[in-house]
Amino acid sequence: MSENPLETPLQFLPGVGPARAELLRRLELRTVADVLWRLPRDVLDLTEVRSPADLVEEELQTVRGVVAESDGRETRKGNLVAVLLDCRDDFVRGLWFNQPWMRQKLAPGTHVLFSGKPKRYRGRWEFTHPRVQMLTAEDDQASGGIVPRYGLTEGLTQVEMQRVVRAAVEMGAAAVADPLPEEFRTEQKLPPLADALRKVHLPRAIADYDAGRRRLLFDDLFEFQVGVALRRRVWGRRSDAPRLEVTAKIDARIRRRFPFRLTAGQETAIRDIAADLASGRAMHRLLQADVGAGKTVVAIYAMLAAVANEHQAVLMTPTELLARQHWRTIDDWLAGSRVRRALLTGNLTAAQRKEIQRQIADRELDLIVGTQAVIQSGVRFGRLGVAVIDEQHKFGVAQRSRFAEQESHPPHVLVMTATPIPRSLCLTQFGDLDLSVMSDLPPGRQRVVTSRIQGPASRRKAWDFVRERIRQGRQLYVVCPLVDAEETARSGAGAEQVYEELRGGDLQGHSIGLVHGQMDRERRDRVMEQFRNGDLQALVATTVIEVGVDVPNATLMIVHEAERFGLSQLHQLRGRIARGSFQGYCFLFSEAVAPEAASRLSALEQSADGFRIAEADFELRGPGDVLGTRQHGELPLRSADLVRDRDLLEEARAAAFPLVESAAIDTPEFLPLKLQVLDRFGSFLDLPRTG
Ligand code: ADP
Ligand code: MG
Repeated sequence: MSENPLETPLQFLPGVGPARAELLRRLELRTVADVLWRLPRDVLDLTEVRSPADLVEEELQTVRGVVAESDGRETRKGNLVAVLLDCRDDFVRGLWFNQPWMRQKLAPGTHVLFSGKPKRYRGRWEFTHPRVQMLTAEDDQASGGIVPRYGLTEGLTQVEMQRVVRAAVEMGAAAVADPLPEEFRTEQKLPPLADALRKVHLPRAIADYDAGRRRLLFDDLFEFQVGVALRRRVWGRRSDAPRLEVTAKIDARIRRRFPFRLTAGQETAIRDIAADLASGRAMHRLLQADVGAGKTVVAIYAMLAAVANEHQAVLMTPTELLARQHWRTIDDWLAGSRVRRALLTGNLTAAQRKEIQRQIADRELDLIVGTQAVIQSGVRFGRLGVAVIDEQHKFGVAQRSRFAEQESHPPHVLVMTATPIPRSLCLTQFGDLDLSVMSDLPPGRQRVVTSRIQGPASRRKAWDFVRERIRQGRQLYVVCPLVDAEETARSGAGAEQVYEELRGGDLQGHSIGLVHGQMDRERRDRVMEQFRNGDLQALVATTVIEVGVDVPNATLMIVHEAERFGLSQLHQLRGRIARGSFQGYCFLFSEAVAPEAASRLSALEQSADGFRIAEADFELRGPGDVLGTRQHGELPLRSADLVRDRDLLEEARAAAFPLVESAAIDTPEFLPLKLQVLDRFGSFLDLPRTG
């Protein structure tokens, strides 16, 4: 057995034993500490429960009882549900108008609390539309007070769990060391940690519980934000970055290369960036804008500013497709210039790659576009000035550091993302970056008309519409959630099946291509190329086209089984057809689905604003789906929830940054906190151990 009571395995806790320890393990609870830091899922306040005899008129009060009868009937005012609640010494009545489902919810035998302002009617207390809290029969045995309720697993009851928690508090709470110095805690109005744990698990009053819970959630978010601030200190704003001046002459020379006038948003972003480049401190900036807002030109501006100052520049993309597309744009715009440039992808022979790597090291190249091949070992820049990472949300947090790591001077780093990221998520994933937001779109851009299509008749109409536009010269994407749906008996979901069906069916006589992530790259590129050239009228695809693909003539999109995609993902997909001056049309094919899914699709029909959509998505589905990737793992938070606790996150951030910026975090007082931060977030945030 361990010396530290907090590390005691649960099976050694009084009343636990191996079998129950096994059940607890299913809840990912192994040690006393695990139990202490697991917040209750909610709390039941029985302190204010009154017996019917003690009720008074028109005051907010709570009663507890078992449903004896529940009736529903139609009245002149509409449907009325009346429930008779047996509160042991007397009955009270609960009434609901036009909420017929309350009758099922409050079936006889159900244990509940009613809270509301009762009225006396015909010798009985009546609650109209009271707040209802469901109790289990077991909760109902609790004699009173404040009862925390925990997440359970089969075979483990609430009362047993509460006993385990009590034993854990008794054994462990006194051994908890507070990582926050007292003075800081007082400033932030936080109770001592051991106290907070006791208050959460064994609350005497609801205010105690709230204060304890706030402390635990605060710590969770605060430690994360201290980590983010440390990351910023290590990787960003280092003061030995090259000074890159964008003089009026350089500015004019760069702009001459662009075939259009910049939008106001692009101008502002460029101003932010130029100021960073000239500052001598390493730029560490996130450029956020909706799909199609025109981030590429801003990236190219930053890169050419570096080249004009005799430094190198690199643009990294998550896919080969995107690298080629940017390369084509850059190569086009720089036609006839002296900028020495190359495309570096995984698609080269070893000899070709070696040669490019040599040229990069010897500063024979000024500007490189590529995939992750540009951060692989073997690539060393002779004099890197600016690094741009496109569609950063497709990469992990760590990849951002790679550029800074390998060079003797830190380059200026610009990261871009077309997924509008809700602020609270942004503060965690990208909280170490300065932010530029472009909220306008290039002129003439029209919002995509989006509609959900259900049933064969509507589908036929949608296809007629689409074919007519194809006849007029437009091109179509057909997006499917899966590559191959053969095994799943859902032929509408698989790109391969849909491709075959369309060739003999709705798109007979048209030229169609197929791309998905399991095809070899060369073949995929060839098909994309044909689509871009207009040799293909339609392209059946998986979400490989989600990121950044730019074919202005493609203005039509059909999404199969649309309910299977996240909102933000659909918004990204739809962004593919909003890139030219023709009106875009997006048809979301979706048969009968749950009401929740249907309302998500209608959110998409109604809103064109990516930020609003991302917020909705975030609330409905959580961070992983908004970022469209889980490759960098879940946020390592213990119990805080970025949607629910967003205000606390702001507070935690406001407390964390000054602590790091003032270097107070480096004093011995805060050493326990710092160690805790490194332990919890060091690898997620890619912090060096010496932080
Ligand atoms: P995203 O922000 O999604 O990466 P892109 O940089 O790919 O957007 O730009 C989308 C399209 O808009 C491209 O075809 C690009 O050439 C065009 N574009 C960008 N900026 C402007 C502008 N200021 N005026 C007109 N067209 C623009
Ligand atoms: Mg882009």
